[in-house]
Amino acid sequence: MSGHPTPRVELYPDRITYNALSVVELAHDHGATVAGVAKVTCAHPAVVDAMVAGGVDLIADSRIDNLRQTRERGIELPLMLLRISERSRAAEIVEFADISLNSSLQTMDVLSQAAVAAGKRHQVILMVDVGDLREGVWPDRAVEVAFGAAQLPGIEVVGLGCNLACFGGVVPSEENMSLLVDVREACRAATGLELPMLSGGNSASLPFLASGHMPAEIDNFRMGESIVLGRNVFDRSPWPGTRQDTVRLVVEVVELERKPSVPIGKRGQNAFGEEPAFEDRGTRLRAIVNLGRQDVVIDGLDPLDPNISILGASSDHMILDVEDAVDAGSLRVGDEIAFYPDYAALLALSTSPYVDKVVIGGPRAYPSAWRVG
Ligand SMILES: *Cc1c(COP(=O)(O)O)cnc(C)c1O
Repeated sequence: MSGHPTPRVELYPDRITYNALSVVELAHDHGATVAGVAKVTCAHPAVVDAMVAGGVDLIADSRIDNLRQTRERGIELPLMLLRISERSRAAEIVEFADISLNSSLQTMDVLSQAAVAAGKRHQVILMVDVGDLREGVWPDRAVEVAFGAAQLPGIEVVGLGCNLACFGGVVPSEENMSLLVDVREACRAATGLELPMLSGGNSASLPFLASGHMPAEIDNFRMGESIVLGRNVFDRSPWPGTRQDTVRLVVEVVELERKPSVPIGKRGQNAFGEEPAFEDRGTRLRAIVNLGRQDVVIDGLDPLDPNISILGASSDHMILDVEDAVDAGSLRVGDEIAFYPDYAALLALSTSPYVDKVVIGGPRAYPSAWRVG
């Protein structure tokens, strides 16, 4: 046992820096900048700093609160807001984000007023939907919106962007990347602006980038999961040159009992309105650990000991079959069990105030139990 309370997320910033170096090198070789995205950890300071140490050129996040916290900690890299700007937060956006992603002329007008009021110039990227059907104006509307944005005082339209593989699962290709390049040409002609930045996408861009077919004009990528978890987001396989042991979840056994594998008695719904099926595997050694669906997406947990399986969870209790665990014979109440979380699991764990965040190693000291908020 480590002396740290459970449940806890253990972050390994040195390994995240290693991943960042690898991803950044690929982008820099293409002549592109990288915005490091730490939102899956709620922009944990150790993760942001690990990305900075790994050479990212900007820090990006979908929440203005995370950017505020990052700026207030003294990070000097440009900060980019990823989620389409919200009008009600315009004053904070121009204060804490140097650059934001936008698709609404009305919202950019409000950002313009906020920028003028604050005596600032705010940079915007106009998002274009090249097929994934999440954010962005349809390509045939881009010129009109870019032209409108170009007239706004306090606003500098620095380029165009697109996002793929998030809603529709569309992958980057010659066609959709060239479309972004072509739309920029049309916007350049209409506005007379240079529009130097073409922000081509998220971690899903990596395989296409590595293939050498990414158009040279695409000069920015916004990378989160590939750096934080070392995954190829097409199929979640390990991305070459990265590590996957960057984050661990550690929980504690609070009950350890032998029980039958099928419940006894007449059955209705469980606590979540489900009627789960049970396979009769006889009497098994079962552990209850101190974490539940309030803290994590249980399907996204991968036990370090592959002989442990997750049977299910309610809000606060997760039930494991530990009959075949490597250390089943010596396992005791109070012992720790560790898992690797996937993106969805880490997102929930990061957001749960009930889960401590502990930084292991790394160049700097952080509060040992960082909590959100
Ligand atoms: C979250 C997000 C990213 C980063 O995505 P990853 O798949 O984690 O690399 C990039 N761009 C936008 C707009 C995002 O919302």
